[in-house]
Amino acid sequence: MKPLHRAALLAWLGIMLGVGLLWWSASVRDARVRFETGARILHRVLSQRGEQQEAVLASVTALARAGVQDGALGGYASAMRAQYPQIVGVQRCRPQCESLGPSGAALPTAPVPKGGSGLQWHPNLPALYALSRGDVRVWVDARYLFREEDFSDLTSAFRLRRPDDGRTLVQRAVRDPARGADRLLPVLRVGKVLGSAEQPFVFEGEHPLRWTELPVAGLGLLALLLAGIAAGWVRLIEGRERARRAAREARRALEGERARAGSAFHAVSEALIVTDARHRVRLANPAAHALLGEALTEGRDLREAVGFRATLDQQPFDPSAFWGQSRPTELPPGVTLVTGDGARLVEGALAPVLEEDEAEAGWVLVLRDVGPLRARVQAALEEGERRVREHAETLAHVTRLSTLGEMSAGLAHELNQPLTAIVSHGQAALRLLDDPERDEARVRRSVEATVTQAKRAASIIAHLRTLVKRDPTQTRPVDVNQVLDNVATLMGHEAERDGIRLTVCPDPRPLIVQGDPVHLEQVLLNLVRNAADAVRATPGAEVRLSARQQGAGALVEVRDTGPGLPDTVRDRLFTPFVTTKPGGLGLGLSLSHTLVQGMGGDLRGENVSGGAVFTLTLPLARREAAHA
Ligand code: ADP
Repeated sequence: MKPLHRAALLAWLGIMLGVGLLWWSASVRDARVRFETGARILHRVLSQRGEQQEAVLASVTALARAGVQDGALGGYASAMRAQYPQIVGVQRCRPQCESLGPSGAALPTAPVPKGGSGLQWHPNLPALYALSRGDVRVWVDARYLFREEDFSDLTSAFRLRRPDDGRTLVQRAVRDPARGADRLLPVLRVGKVLGSAEQPFVFEGEHPLRWTELPVAGLGLLALLLAGIAAGWVRLIEGRERARRAAREARRALEGERARAGSAFHAVSEALIVTDARHRVRLANPAAHALLGEALTEGRDLREAVGFRATLDQQPFDPSAFWGQSRPTELPPGVTLVTGDGARLVEGALAPVLEEDEAEAGWVLVLRDVGPLRARVQAALEEGERRVREHAETLAHVTRLSTLGEMSAGLAHELNQPLTAIVSHGQAALRLLDDPERDEARVRRSVEATVTQAKRAASIIAHLRTLVKRDPTQTRPVDVNQVLDNVATLMGHEAERDGIRLTVCPDPRPLIVQGDPVHLEQVLLNLVRNAADAVRATPGAEVRLSARQQGAGALVEVRDTGPGLPDTVRDRLFTPFVTTKPGGLGLGLSLSHTLVQGMGGDLRGENVSGGAVFTLTLPLARREAAHA
């Protein structure tokens, strides 16, 4: 049991005991007083009745002494008897006793010996006794001493006893007897001798206490009331204790929150400055001090300490509009913070701190120096781009190798031509040299032709080496016509073999773009090979490769007479791994698209009547564009 509950219980018990005892004893006392008062009144009434008998005796005696005749005395006695019913007979003993007037009982005629108290007792009827004086004897029936009207109290018993042997003369029992539980309670008693000298009967009374006379219900109610009060008191104290504990915990939580907020405030990498309602600096974290330096002192007007200037935005920075905002406001993009040691690009916001009634209690300014962040993002972007470029180059290289591998037959043929020519020119030169009348001019022509063919073979090999080598991207002016020519050379044999007419229409003027020649050639090679794949085995197969200037750009078209782009591919032309060819990788177009974009150009593919056309646009190199 909790100490508080024990204390409440003890207090309740103590009060109940104290009040209960007091109330109990007061109630018992009241009952006793009531009973004793009733008994006293009855005692007095009985004493008076005793006096009445004595008065009758005295008056009859006086009348007898005065010589009143027995007849008259009998009349008087009858009158007295009518008035006092307890007097059952009046006798005159000389010495035999004779009744004066009629008597209410059979009275002895012989003198009766006096008892110890001077009373004479009827020999047979124990309730009858006689008072005598001289020769007059008055018989009293004690049963008439108790009368119904004397007993208003129904719950008490009374009796009269003889003074000599204590026998009961008359008694009145309790008319409303005590019930079971009442027997547990004590019985109140009184005992007193009647106030008459000649009739000193013992008057006794008994009153068994009853629960109804005692404050049981009251005490029960009091107990309940006190229990209620004690329970209320306990609840009050416990409630208070709980509230105190909750307040303590809330305070502790608040302190914890405050400490956490404080450390967060200090740890945050953004500059945080808190001002009062008049913009005076009240609090600033280390980042704020680091950013603003000595300009930031407590109590200084923040509007003076912090100078903003718009650098990127068209709108000039309006300080009065910014500082006067009643809602959280972001700094416009591109704002520079001007401090003692230079200007820094910052981001940030100003937010009002509101009171409960929404009035502004101050402001919080958050500033972030985005310079380092920008540098980091820039570096990450550049690194990402470098990697993408590297991957694209690797992919381009691998694809090139794969393309060249597929074209090896054509390339071998391409090389074979100059080599065959070299051999035949060389043999011709040797034959001419063996001729004694040799024509030196013809020998020279043969040797020159040999050299030309060798150079051609060397140039083809050099070109193939360029394609096979994995050089980093080199952006330089490239003549698109030359690239068309290269592609035609590389694809010529394959087209011829497959019965495809490969038409190349370069621009009559040099068409110089800025880009990587290897990449450009790879793209066109890829488009022409796709076109060749599409037209192969179709009657009148033709692939047309043309270039021309259009505005400030070069436009290259690869047009074929094939079935056109399949529906499944058309919307995802440049998505990697989309292919309809059994052994295809689906990388050619996506790689070409990436390479073209890398050169600042664009690639599109569409169906036209009678085939597909891929259009490649590239910006002209600056000088060319200027001439355009
Ligand atoms: P691959 O050639 O390995 O399939 P590409 O990316 O070069 O990969 O081509 C993707 C697909 O685009 C081809 O499989 C083909 O279905 C379609 N395609 C490309 N060029 C043409 C064209 N000229 N005519 C018809 N379909 C074409």
